[in-house]
Amino acid sequence: VSNATHRTLWCELAWLGGDAPEPGVVLDIAGERIVAVSAGVAVPPPDAERRAGLTLPGLVNAHSHAFHRALRGRTQAGRGSFWTWRDQMYAVAATLDPERYLALATAVYAEMALAGITTIGEFHYLHDGTNAMGEALIEAAGRAGVRITLLDTCYLHGGIGRERSGVQCRFGDSTVAAWMARNEDRAAPPAHARLGAAIHSVRAVDPDAAAQVAEWSAARTVPLHAHVSEQPAENEACLAAYGRTPTALLDDAGALSARFCAVHATHVTEDDIARLGRAGAAVALCPTTERDLADGIGPASALAGRGVRLCLGSDSHAVIDQFEEARAVELQERLASGERGHHRAAALLRAASLEGATALGWDAGIGPGALADFVTVRLDSVRLAGTRPADALAAAVFVATAADVDAVTVGGRDAVRAGRHQLVDDVPRALAGAIASVS
Ligand SMILES: [Zn+2]
Repeated sequence: VSNATHRTLWCELAWLGGDAPEPGVVLDIAGERIVAVSAGVAVPPPDAERRAGLTLPGLVNAHSHAFHRALRGRTQAGRGSFWTWRDQMYAVAATLDPERYLALATAVYAEMALAGITTIGEFHYLHDGTNAMGEALIEAAGRAGVRITLLDTCYLHGGIGRERSGVQCRFGDSTVAAWMARNEDRAAPPAHARLGAAIHSVRAVDPDAAAQVAEWSAARTVPLHAHVSEQPAENEACLAAYGRTPTALLDDAGALSARFCAVHATHVTEDDIARLGRAGAAVALCPTTERDLADGIGPASALAGRGVRLCLGSDSHAVIDQFEEARAVELQERLASGERGHHRAAALLRAASLEGATALGWDAGIGPGALADFVTVRLDSVRLAGTRPADALAAAVFVATAADVDAVTVGGRDAVRAGRHQLVDDVPRALAGAIASVS
């Protein structure tokens, strides 16, 4: 019944974009879209399915590398840095083929669905110069009941002025022309998928090639993402080689626009922030990964203050929990500044949902005509019991975890009901099996 073409849902509380959730929200759904929204309906209509708790727009994971999930829990021994972690990541990458990646990514995307994520931005560079792995990722998202924007990543060099070596050879195309030809060779994506482009970083793509990828994405009006200033060493190498910061280099290459999303932007300058703001660009913050890799704390308030749209990604999947990513943006800024209240709960929820969708080329939001992508968080768990309706947004951001997600609907269909995935029978078992096969 609940996957029929027409559905009516009555949500106890739903966030429609304001500073507080609305009580008694009825959603009428036809096919994959919401056709009508009525708030303040105290008594559920007799034919309506009831959604207790707080209903939010679908959460969006704007930056994912699905295979990094296999590293969770394995990289915490001893000291080290981003660069030593990267060696461990390369070892997993070496074992993957399309069949194994399909199994792994299906399980990882199912974990994301259980966490309330309805749309994933997959920053995909492990492609062996073919489209087989990318096709597997699109298929995996379909099997997990979620949407994907495949950001096929141009990766040409092993570092500034260096050839790719070892497993990096699997990440690349021989030239930017080969990257373009491969992306033009793709079949049209299925309804749950969209295509975009990515520049891996200024380490892996030279300025001329970056300009060509930017031009290619502009001609097709697709999203363009790039890792930007995750590490001080990247800035130093870029300044030494090109006399500019990575953001300035990408700006000069024509990459910055409202379709552009800088991933991390942890070590950006005032001028970089101004450039991103002028372009109407987005930044994908990945706080749980950035803290895991000792990257540093990004200037989220300064970016938002310049009009940069913030979205969130779980990147290395050290954890998959968009509530944790959202509160980390505020909480780490508190620690760094000695002050509270940098980002309102509603702004953090926007980052976790609507802004991510925009950065991935999807429309979003709970409103007439929108895709019927939403997630319901229970407020009666041991963590959230006692939450007053007026505090529900703040409770979702500052207290909820992925385990509080009760129901997830994508395009009018339930991917998760009562905390259980509807398409992947046993997600932990699927994860364990897939990870064992790549270890
Ligand atoms: Zn990344």
